Amino acid sequence: MTNSILIKNAHSILTGRRGDDARSSASDLRIDQGVIIEMGRDLEAQPGERILDARDCVIYPGWVNTHHHLFQSLLKGVPAGINLTLSPWLQAVPFIYRRSFHEERLRLAARIGIVELMLSGCTTIADHHYIYYPGMSYDASAALFDEAAALGVRFMLHRGGATVTRKLEANDRNYFEPETLDGMISEIERTAARFHQNGVRPRTRVAMAPTTVTVSVQRNELKLIASAARSMGIPMHTHMSESVTFMEHCREAFGCLPIEYLAENEWIGPDVSLAHLTHLTDAEMRILGASGTGMAHCPQSNARLADGIASAPALDRLGAAVSIGVDGAASNEAADMLSEVHFCWLMHRAHAGAATRPRPEGAGEAGADSVTVEQVVHWATAGGARMLGFDGVGTLAVGQAADLAVYDLDAPRYFGLHDMAIGPVVSAGRPRLKWLLVDGRIVVEDDAIPGLDMAQLRAQARADVLCLMKDT
Ligand SMILES: [Zn+2]
Repeated sequence: MTNSILIKNAHSILTGRRGDDARSSASDLRIDQGVIIEMGRDLEAQPGERILDARDCVIYPGWVNTHHHLFQSLLKGVPAGINLTLSPWLQAVPFIYRRSFHEERLRLAARIGIVELMLSGCTTIADHHYIYYPGMSYDASAALFDEAAALGVRFMLHRGGATVTRKLEANDRNYFEPETLDGMISEIERTAARFHQNGVRPRTRVAMAPTTVTVSVQRNELKLIASAARSMGIPMHTHMSESVTFMEHCREAFGCLPIEYLAENEWIGPDVSLAHLTHLTDAEMRILGASGTGMAHCPQSNARLADGIASAPALDRLGAAVSIGVDGAASNEAADMLSEVHFCWLMHRAHAGAATRPRPEGAGEAGADSVTVEQVVHWATAGGARMLGFDGVGTLAVGQAADLAVYDLDAPRYFGLHDMAIGPVVSAGRPRLKWLLVDGRIVVEDDAIPGLDMAQLRAQARADVLCLMKDT
């Protein structure tokens, strides 16, 4: 066995699965050709096999981040947008800066974001990129796939864009020429032909993802776009119901609610995923649940922009496919998955508790079981992989891709835990990442990415931020 790795002596393994299967009784795990081939206790080392000693460590599946904007990794904490809600923030930050993203800057931002995610234990990233315009001098999609491949993560491009200029961007300062419908579809077709993989354990995938379909494309284009995606065999993604503005706009423009509008236009189903879904009526939630539509739940970004709290636990119960995205990084300065799952776990409990009322009218204390650690881990791993179409990825079981994070809980914040398995979620912080594996390949070792010059990346980030501050 030459490519084989044996991970031994783990304190606990969370599998990413639901219910009784959420925890493995194994302490050892054997990987060959990128796949988990054996799990158990006291596995014997084979000749030539590399041994990774995971004593006192906990192992999780690699996180699957289902919604992000990597270009914004150079736009964190912009003062002009730090206290703004979604619509004015869009005008003050992403719309203002996006034109300045030439290829080199996009690559640098993507590298920063991917590195940050990897060091939180993330192995699959879906990036919703939307800086596309007629006559672009470089292939932004190919550049993003290239940066992800260089760092060794699985990557999905939610290929965004617009065919209309929305009201918010219709002034000189942030005007952005939209694509034509044919131009957008043919570019996505070209990208999908090159990068979209089906089958087991795909490395790269592509989705049709107009930025926000209620405002980025015309009403009569929606069905055409859905039909083009389905004929290419690629999924669909968009921002939806992120703030109350979505409801106001759809009522005014279409005379219905946002999810009703999507349903009328063939934009729901298991091949559709929607980022945010913060403001929904009960009827809309039932539509999403019955159709098995996906949700990229982004609790930190929703909190940062004062969007509200999305009803992820209820959507999960109704049958929608819930996953976790960090969104940002201009609307979530902690764009890492550990921070996101910790916040998610706390926020839904606070939300449920805030709704409690004293007896006899209410039910007294309640809400601490509104989400469990295992449920949040499932959403952020297997749930995301399934929603994005990464078959054979997202859980730790024999036959699955060896995408996993080995956390060493050697910092004081993890001392005293009675259940070490839940430490990375409940205690938060960033435990030392002893190893991160993608397809059985070590991409992080002892908290460092082999071959990456972190000091140089930091210096490049600082220099580029100074340029951005000067130019705007
Ligand atoms: Zn977003």
